[in-house]
Amino acid sequence: MTFSSQPLSPPVQRIDFEGTQPASGSLDVSWIHGSVSPKHNDDPDIQVHAYNEHTYILRQNMAVHYEAPFMFLLFGNERAILLDTGATRSQDYFPLRQTVDALIERWLSRHPRADYRLVVAHTHLHRDHFEGNSQFLDRPHTTMVGRSLEDTIAFYGFSQWPTERVSFDLGGRQLQIMGSPGHEDVEVSIYDPYTQILFTGDIFYPGRLYIRDWDAFASSIARLIEFTEAHPITHILGCHVEMSIYPRIDYLIRTSYQPHERPPQMTVAQLRDLGSAIAAVNGRPGIYPFDAFILYNGVPDRYFSYEAMNPEVEPGTVGYLD
Ligand SMILES: [Zn+2]
Repeated sequence: MTFSSQPLSPPVQRIDFEGTQPASGSLDVSWIHGSVSPKHNDDPDIQVHAYNEHTYILRQNMAVHYEAPFMFLLFGNERAILLDTGATRSQDYFPLRQTVDALIERWLSRHPRADYRLVVAHTHLHRDHFEGNSQFLDRPHTTMVGRSLEDTIAFYGFSQWPTERVSFDLGGRQLQIMGSPGHEDVEVSIYDPYTQILFTGDIFYPGRLYIRDWDAFASSIARLIEFTEAHPITHILGCHVEMSIYPRIDYLIRTSYQPHERPPQMTVAQLRDLGSAIAAVNGRPGIYPFDAFILYNGVPDRYFSYEAMNPEVEPGTVGYLD
C-alpha cells in the first residue's frame, strides 16, 4: 500500500471584506486621456489601475473609442463582478476579455480557490457599456446579466424597482444595488461597503449628464443623496470624464484628446450640488453647465444621436448617449 506524497491542498484563506473602516485604496493615477492624433496613439488599449488588491478600475483608450468608458472589476471570496464591458466589440482593438482573464488569474494565484466565478454586469444599457459582452460569451464559470429591465430585476431579485435596495454577495463582500433610472431606464448604482465607493454609472460623473426622464432622474439622485447621508462614502465613481479641471468647461463631444481632464472620482458634496442643480433647473429643457457637470435635459437627440452620426443604421436604433 502506498500513500500519495501530494500534500493536501491548503485550506482556502477567506478574505475579510467586512471591516468597519474602508479598505485602503489609491486613486493616485494619471489616467490616459488620448492624444492629438488618435491614429498615432501608442498608449495601451485598456488602462488598468489597482485601487487595491481586490478592486480594479479599467479605462478604455480614447483612441480606440472616444467614449473612453471606465469599467470596474471587484473580487469577493466566491466570485468577481465586472461592471460594464466597454464600447468596442473587437478583441483585437479592445482586449477586455484577455485583460480581465489575466487579472483573475493573477488574483487566483495569490488567493487560490476552486470554482471561482465571474459575473458580467452592466451599470446601464447603453452601447458604450456593453459592446464587449460578446468577448465573454464562451467564458467558463461566467454569468452574464441579461440586457433588459426584466433580466436585471430577476438577476438581483428586486421586488420594488427602482426604489428598493438589494444585496448582491461576491462572497463576504456584500454589494448594495440600487435602481437609478433617468439617464437610461435600466441603470443601477452600486455601493461597495468594503471600499465605501459608490459607483454611479452614467447618472453622475464629471461630464454631460444626459437626462431622458426628468422625474426618474430627480428621484434617483434624491435617493442617492439620501443614501450618502446614511452610509460612509470614500469616493463616487461614474463611467466617464468629459469635464476639464476648469469649472464649467467640458471637451468637445466625440473628442479623442482631453488634456487637463478632471479625475473621475466625485464627492458627496458634488452629488449634493447636483441635487441643488436639479432644484434650480426644475425640469426645464436645455443645457445647464455647473462647475463639475453639465445637465443636458431633453435636448433633441440630433445633437448626439447615433443615427445622426451613422446614417447607414436603421432609424430607431439605440444610440450612444454617453
Ligand atoms: Zn456612457
